Amino acid sequence: MAQLRHQALNLVQTREKVEVQAPSKRISEYFGEMAFTKAQMQTTLSPEVYKRVTDSIKNRKKVDIETADAVAAAVKNWALERGVTHYTHWFQPLTGATAEKHDSFFDPSKGIENFRAEALVQQEPDASSFPNGGIRSTFEARGYTAWDPSSPIFIYGKTLCIPTIFVAYTGEALDHKAPLLKALEAVDKAAVKVCRLFDRNVSKVNASLGWEQEYFVVDKALYNARPDLVMGGRTLYGHNPARGQQLDDHYFGSIPSRIYDFMKDYEIESHKLGIPLMTRHNEVAPAQYEAAPMYGPVNEATDQNQLLKDVMEKVANKHNLRVLFHEKPFAELNGSGKHNNWSLVTDTGVNLFQPSSSAKDNLLFLTFFVTTIKAVHEYADLIRSSIASAGNDFRLGANEAPPAIISVFIGSTLTKVLDKLEKSGDIMVEKGENLYMKLGIDQIPPIILDNTDRNRTSPFAFTGNKFEFRAVGSDANVSDPMMVLNTIMADQLADFYKKVNKKIDGGREKRLAIIDILRDYIKESKPIRFEGDGYSDDWVKEAAKRKLSNERETPRALDFSVTDKVVKLYEKHKVMTKVEIEARHEIRLENYIMKVQIESRMMGDIASNMIIPTATKYQSQLIENAKGLNELGLDATEIKKTIEQVSTHINNVRRLSHEMTEERKRINKIEDIRERAIEYCDSVKGKYFEPLRYAVDKLELLVDDEDWPLPKYRELLFLR
Ligand code: ADP
Ligand code: MG
Repeated sequence: MAQLRHQALNLVQTREKVEVQAPSKRISEYFGEMAFTKAQMQTTLSPEVYKRVTDSIKNRKKVDIETADAVAAAVKNWALERGVTHYTHWFQPLTGATAEKHDSFFDPSKGIENFRAEALVQQEPDASSFPNGGIRSTFEARGYTAWDPSSPIFIYGKTLCIPTIFVAYTGEALDHKAPLLKALEAVDKAAVKVCRLFDRNVSKVNASLGWEQEYFVVDKALYNARPDLVMGGRTLYGHNPARGQQLDDHYFGSIPSRIYDFMKDYEIESHKLGIPLMTRHNEVAPAQYEAAPMYGPVNEATDQNQLLKDVMEKVANKHNLRVLFHEKPFAELNGSGKHNNWSLVTDTGVNLFQPSSSAKDNLLFLTFFVTTIKAVHEYADLIRSSIASAGNDFRLGANEAPPAIISVFIGSTLTKVLDKLEKSGDIMVEKGENLYMKLGIDQIPPIILDNTDRNRTSPFAFTGNKFEFRAVGSDANVSDPMMVLNTIMADQLADFYKKVNKKIDGGREKRLAIIDILRDYIKESKPIRFEGDGYSDDWVKEAAKRKLSNERETPRALDFSVTDKVVKLYEKHKVMTKVEIEARHEIRLENYIMKVQIESRMMGDIASNMIIPTATKYQSQLIENAKGLNELGLDATEIKKTIEQVSTHINNVRRLSHEMTEERKRINKIEDIRERAIEYCDSVKGKYFEPLRYAVDKLELLVDDEDWPLPKYRELLFLR
């Protein structure tokens, strides 16, 4: 078995450089050439059709069939000119991955390439094997995909990909995207109303997202020699190497040339697809890196993130590498997250999270800023549940990632502003007095960025002109956290609007009414604000005093996603129905169970088929050796100690993996899915993963390196 490891090690050392076919043009000349963007539409569609499509996108209305026909014809030509043969509806079922089913443009009955509006607008993939949380069996409904014109169609390989939503015929969403689009609509509506208290010209508010994607890269051969990486993307065993990340020499270091070639290659592909990648760098752990684009509309940014992950996997393969998107591929080293930078921007071009040097604009800024904090306080638990996954559980609260406690960091400047507002008492303005000056909001430094001491330990931080949600897992589809964030914001803005109007109706001057409500919000949401070290034990205690939840494990954190309050929230804003909410809950529990089950099985398999045989072979060698020493009358005390250690660990591995299997058998019989998930969490993962790993990792230190079957951490992390 160790053969595979040795072969892999040889391969890594004899890898030839994979040449990158870089276009001779500038990025600006090929950026988006594989995407049917607005610019493409403008050159290929008639002005009327173009206007109808862009209006539909802007007003989130369905594209009518004639318009769709014209678009279909234009897209077909555009695609055929580029050698495309097939098309697919590209969607995001609740598996976490993207889905596609290719159909040929070629119509054999007519002998020509064909693509009608119907094929663009709606399809009925027989996608009956995707998770649906009981929705389909209950309703006996089939699912269909429907074109989402707000995200550009693109060419991937030789296939035309049409971004779509995926819904049951009875209307329930079966994907990540349909509810996200509804949440974006809800926040748009609510935010416009609030903006119009300040400026009547605002008619649309768009949510923006800029994600920062962290990932690990390992050599393909080493990866293939690790069944745990192949099956679950995470090393289930592996002793900490002598050198990990303690020297901090990888972070922002010079990018290794093989990785640099890989990055250049996937950036070229991404740029052609219109993914606006801007930033690349080494991350903290060895073999860890990050990529970030220029931010854009949430819906597009979400699709781009899903697409990028696919591009990276394909390109990595070409470079004999594998990308790991798992949140915690290596124990004892930093895990990977995906910061979600989020802001709201009006169609008049104002970023609502941008402080200003103008007092009047600052009241608008404060309105959105304070309302966000209040929304996060109100729905902290729902936010927590939106990022819960088996993988992210290994990361949250593990002293390198934000804790599972949701809190908001705003920096010292804005803390002062809010403190002053909070203490301002009942505000009255005398004649000739400047209200803004009186409240100290006449001049908030417009560039907060430079004077906030960027708190890296906070899960939700204000960073100058955006909020940064940092607790999202690297492997997550960002739709879920983005749907939650935009929905709770819509709800809070609606509440704000209602309350302000009530005050105005009661005779209060508008500005004062706004400030009154903001002051209430500041007071009510104070417990969610935390400026200190989020990694510290003190914070855990302090958070408990403030009654903030600290739910570290997914099966229980998911309870937060199905409370009556949450159902009411989603139904009020028409984002999801109770049926959809419950279906999602079930799907996520199921997913959790399967992830833990797969890992548990793999731990057992590797232990029985690889570790125990190797270790017993070594044990026999030692015994032979000890016998020999005895025969010669030499001292065998030390070697006996080693034999004892090896034997103890082997026995533990045997016993623990046997017990763990028996536990699984017991738990698999539990009917209730939530209870089953909790048992998998507590009685399988919680009870066995660490002790089993401990025993195997100890054996790794004892057994002859020649014979050890799994590539070691030092090899995975440092050979490239
Ligand atoms: P950081 O210091 O956190 O790395 P960066 O300035 O590098 O911040 O930006 C990280 C991400 O945030 C990028 O994707 C960037 O485009 C995005 N971003 C910057 N400004 C905004 C904004 N106003 N709204 C949303 N995302 C933004
Ligand atoms: Mg950041």
